[in-house]
Amino acid sequence: METNKKKIYADCAATSPLSERALAAAMPFLTESFGNAGSVHSLGMRSARAVFDARNKIAALLGAGAEEIFFTSGGSESDNWAIRSAAALGAKNGKRHIVTSAAEHHAVLNTCKYLEQNGCEVTYLPPDSEGRVSSESVANALREDTALVSVMYANNEVGTVNPVGEIAELCRSRGVLFHTDAVQAVGHEQIDVSTLGADMLSFSGHKFGAMKGIGGLYVRKGLKLPPLIFGGAQESGLRAGTENVPGIVSMAAALEESLEELEPKNTRLASLRDRITEDLLLIPDSRLNGSRTERLAGNINISFAGVESESLILMLDIKGIQASGGSACTSHSPDPSHVLLSMGVDRALASGSLRLSLHPSLTEDEADRIINAVTETVAMLRANMQR
Ligand SMILES: *Cc1c(COP(=O)(O)O)cnc(C)c1O
Repeated sequence: METNKKKIYADCAATSPLSERALAAAMPFLTESFGNAGSVHSLGMRSARAVFDARNKIAALLGAGAEEIFFTSGGSESDNWAIRSAAALGAKNGKRHIVTSAAEHHAVLNTCKYLEQNGCEVTYLPPDSEGRVSSESVANALREDTALVSVMYANNEVGTVNPVGEIAELCRSRGVLFHTDAVQAVGHEQIDVSTLGADMLSFSGHKFGAMKGIGGLYVRKGLKLPPLIFGGAQESGLRAGTENVPGIVSMAAALEESLEELEPKNTRLASLRDRITEDLLLIPDSRLNGSRTERLAGNINISFAGVESESLILMLDIKGIQASGGSACTSHSPDPSHVLLSMGVDRALASGSLRLSLHPSLTEDEADRIINAVTETVAMLRANMQR
């Protein structure tokens, strides 16, 4: 019986399981070592020390300086802070134009929409048919009054990796701030902000094995952001509030673990991804969404004509496989994915998309089970439709 087997979690782009190492690192700070990092006594100092060490570790792993890493509650907060800050800084010099892409996460898109209601003009670049935003398209969109370019490192639905290094270089040469939402990339790709050239970069712990409610924003040295939360002196006085010590510690441990042996882990995962993809594309009237080459190692996104994503997801869940139709944030809405539509996928196919975002621990046997379950379920749903 399928139900006796271990479940397969294939929704890591929505959130990842907490790694054992991250939990073990956080545990003392969830129990006996509960001190406020601002307190002077030994319990407080232990927390302050842990935050200090975690910031140094995360900074080193990302090629940043410790003073360039700001802790936030996650990717959404980091995106909001980065974009609203750049808009505020630009407005001081009469620059009110923002360039982003139509395939961004809603944390970016809805921040831009808010800014549009408050005097900014936003260009939403359509990605190409594989979900890629080229530096040429960004170059063509730049204006004298462009304050910010925000283009994601890797897309959360189709896994397409953008040429962010090129875009950063372009922005640098034109004197425009560049932010990248790297929530899907940090902990999954080797990133060195010292060579990447972005001014701001968002990341989120729960996308790479840390606890939920912790993330960060890299801010290049010399760029002074306006405060996000007024209060105490935490995060250099820019983001006040008692530090989430367990979260911060878990994020440092999870990032370290994720980046260990990253190359061989990604090579193995990408080959499982490709094997599953090839087999699922043998299903009639199926189509790969995204790029074959410029793609996150753990991402598969395929549309099946004549199938509703929601039914497919529910049936797979019964078979012990947790997947998604697109992004978790939009999966309860009846509209097809804005990402797929922006890539020019037609509405009918966009409504029948399946996203599998694989954990690095996925086994060959689990890959086979995914292939069989999806193949059977798509056939069954299509047969039911014909009746
Ligand atoms: C998950 C995600 C976010 C939001 O991160 P939270 O930590 O959940 O707020 C932002 N951008 C992308 C690309 C994501 O995948």
